[in-house]
Amino acid sequence: MAPISVPVPENPAAVLIGQMEVEFAKCECCGLTEECTAAYIEGIRRRFDGKWICGLCSEAVQDEILKSDELITTEEAIAKHMSFCKKFASAVGPPPDPTPHLITAMRQILRRSLDSPRALRSRLTTPTTAAADQIRRRALA
Ligand SMILES: [Zn+2]
Repeated sequence: MAPISVPVPENPAAVLIGQMEVEFAKCECCGLTEECTAAYIEGIRRRFDGKWICGLCSEAVQDEILKSDELITTEEAIAKHMSFCKKFASAVGPPPDPTPHLITAMRQILRRSLDSPRALRSRLTTPTTAAADQIRRRALA
């Protein structure tokens, strides 16, 4: 009996399946890595000027746009948020893992803006930012 040889899949269908596989994307703001599908990574890159940023940072970037007195572009909001991340990192120094601290700091900023009267009312009905993030992720997937 001849052994059944399994050919290496090199067809368009296999490529398509490959795009459904998860890979690690690194946030260009805070350096957090997230496991995402290639399609999701692509969606974020398109939205944020070719940069991949994590869910929390994208939330913070939206926030920069909302709280800005002038109309700013997504690119400018990313730049603002990136400088915030860098300032935070240099203020705290190089701890073994700065990410949890940065996330806490960002959550505080977001919470503060949610409490402010300028925040959109619809955002107040969202129970948690994590839930909102999940909804958005599902919408983008
Ligand atoms: Zn981030």
